[in-house]
Amino acid sequence: MIIGTGCAGLTAALYTARANLKPLVLTGTMPGGLLTTTSIVENYPGFPEGIDGYELMTRMQKQAERFGARVKFGTVEAVEFTKRPFVLTVDGEPLLAETIIIATGAGHRHLGLESEHLLEKKGVTYCATCDGALPMFRKQPLVVVGGGDSACEEATYLTRFASTVYLVHRRDTLRASKVMAARTLTHEKIKPIWNTVVTDVLDVKQEKVTGVRLKNLQTGEESTLDCAGVFVAIGHTPNTQLFKGTIAMDENGYIIPQRGTETSVPGVFVAGDCADHVYRQAITAAGEGCAAAIDAERYLAGLNQ
Ligand code: NAP
Repeated sequence: MIIGTGCAGLTAALYTARANLKPLVLTGTMPGGLLTTTSIVENYPGFPEGIDGYELMTRMQKQAERFGARVKFGTVEAVEFTKRPFVLTVDGEPLLAETIIIATGAGHRHLGLESEHLLEKKGVTYCATCDGALPMFRKQPLVVVGGGDSACEEATYLTRFASTVYLVHRRDTLRASKVMAARTLTHEKIKPIWNTVVTDVLDVKQEKVTGVRLKNLQTGEESTLDCAGVFVAIGHTPNTQLFKGTIAMDENGYIIPQRGTETSVPGVFVAGDCADHVYRQAITAAGEGCAAAIDAERYLAGLNQ
C-alpha cells in the first residue's frame, strides 16, 4: 500500500507495480500532490521546454497504472502499525497491507494570523495557479509573502493578472534559486518590499481582502498596503499528523528514515517531502519513491523466504 500520489508515491507505484507487487495507491485529498498546483515545471529532467505540473502528475499516474498499480481515491484516517498485516482505516473501511510506503508530502505553511484564517478563500490563498485567474484578483494589486522559489513562482505567475505584485519578504535577500530570483526581481510588475512581515490581513469585517498591515523589521515602522489578494508562499509543513506516536519523527513532524527509506517500524517505508526538509524537489521525491519501492520489494522477499 502506498499513501500519497505525488512524485514519490507514484514513482513508488510504478516500481512496485513492475515488480508485480500489485500496489494500492491512496490519493488523499489532493490527488497528484502539490505539483498539480504548479504551473510550469522547468527542472524535471526529460522536459526541455518544461511541463505543466498537473500534466506531469497525470502522466506519472498513467505510467504506474499501465503496469497494474491501482489508484484509489481515499483518505487514510487511522493506522495500526503494531499488528501484522498493518491496518489502515480508509474512509471508514479497514484495509490490510504487508508493507506500506508513506509518501504523504507536505502542505502549505500558514502565517498563523487570525485574519489570515478568517479570510482564507476570501482573498487569502496559498496557490496562485489555482486562484490567480479569479475575477477578484484581475487588474488589482496583489501581495505575495515569502522569499523562496515558491514565492517567486507565485509572484511571476500573478503578473499575468495583477496590476502590481508586491513581494513581501522578511529579509533583504531572496532564498530562491538564482534564475528564479533574477526573473522575479527584474519583472516590471513585481515590487519587492524587504525586511517586512505581514502583521494583519484586512478587512475581516468586509469579509474580503482589502489590504495588509505591514511591519518593517529593521525600523519597526508599521504601514498599510492596499491589495485585493494575499498569496502566502512561506514554505511547507509535512503531512504526517496521522502517524504521530506510531513512527519516529523530528520535532517539526518530518519522518526520520533509519536506513535508506526504512522507518522506525519494519515494513513501513518513507519517501518524498514528508521526510525531506533539505532537497524538496520533484526529482528527489521521485528518486526516493523508487528507492522505497526497491526497499519494500526486498523486505517482502525476505518475509517470504
Ligand atoms: P522555502 O524555500 O522554505 O522558502 C520559504 C520562504 O518563506 C523563505 O524565504 C522564508 O524566509 C519565508 N518564511 C518562512 N516562514 C515565514 C514566516 N512565518 N513569515 C514570513 N516569511 C516566512 O519554501 P518554498 O519556496 O516553498 O520552496 C520549498 C522547496 O521547493 C525548495 O527546495 C524550493 O527550491 C522548491 N521549489 C522549487 C521550485 C522550482 O524550482 N520550480 C518551485 C517551488 C519550490 P527566509 O528566507 O528568511 O527563511
